[in-house]
Amino acid sequence: MPVTHDVQRTVQASVPAPMDPSVLALTSVLQTTLDLEQQVKLVATAARRQLDTDGVRYRHQDEAAEVIDGTTEGHKASYDLVIDHVSLGCIGFFRERPFEERDLQELESLVCAWIYPLRNAITYRQAVERALRDPLTGVQNRNALTSALEREIETSRRHATPLSMLVLDIDHFKKINDNHGHSFGDDVLRAVAQTAGTTIRRCDEIFRFGGEEFVILARYTDEDGARQLAERIRKDIEAIGTVNGLDAGVTVSIGIAVMPPADSADDLFDRADQALYQAKQQGRNRWVLAP
Ligand code: GH3
Ligand code: MG
Ligand code: MG
Repeated sequence: MPVTHDVQRTVQASVPAPMDPSVLALTSVLQTTLDLEQQVKLVATAARRQLDTDGVRYRHQDEAAEVIDGTTEGHKASYDLVIDHVSLGCIGFFRERPFEERDLQELESLVCAWIYPLRNAITYRQAVERALRDPLTGVQNRNALTSALEREIETSRRHATPLSMLVLDIDHFKKINDNHGHSFGDDVLRAVAQTAGTTIRRCDEIFRFGGEEFVILARYTDEDGARQLAERIRKDIEAIGTVNGLDAGVTVSIGIAVMPPADSADDLFDRADQALYQAKQQGRNRWVLAP
């Protein structure tokens, strides 16, 4: 086991960045991007050039962000990044040689040059995240579905793997609203999204399409897999029972379409929607697979 001498410090935004030319150069290049990953790579490159580091690891727990560039072995100098008592995560620099006090001062200057661009990148990331999420249920929204669908169709075509789409619609949701109020209806929507979200596999995705309709994309899933998934979701939602102590009696109807034979995003959605219509016609609380 190599003996390492690790250093851990906190960098506050209030520390003035020294006007070193290399630091100024880093500041200006960092301001050209709001992409967190790119910023970490720029910091890593500057540290490698100036201090012979072998790698960096940036982590921000609240943002579920981790970016690694190079190796994460050897001696480590890490910095907690803070602005106005708000944590912006932590960055660790790694190299074979221990870090001397002089090196740490240089690293600290680099990190100081990064801290405001980093805050901008995090703010941007949060804005993008908000634009793609439905605030009521917390699942992804219709905008997110549009881009996910494009991506999944492309993957399905390129690798000749099946892709399934399930369109879920809550049965008699209007009655739930009418009988117990709109706010109870909102709670039912959250419960349905949460239950369906828990039932699907990690690699499947759920979206609120609008109103009381949800779409699930299940990659690498053929007709058999989609049938099983739809039945699990149908059962789990039927088993919700009470919401806020009231018997919600909530059920869903599900239309399923699979690619192939569907051959485009529109075709997949139209087939799933028609199958959903059939499920409603046949009495609700059931799924129908499009031919
Ligand atoms: P069906 O079984 O045929 O699907 O009947 P339904 O009553 O579910 O269908 P309908 O389309 O008639 O009603 C949907 C209702 O969903 C009407 C609308 O007011 C309600 N709704 C849409 N968005 C929301 C929402 O965000 N919150 C609540 N509480 N209700 C919503
Ligand atoms: Mg509907
Ligand atoms: Mg409905």
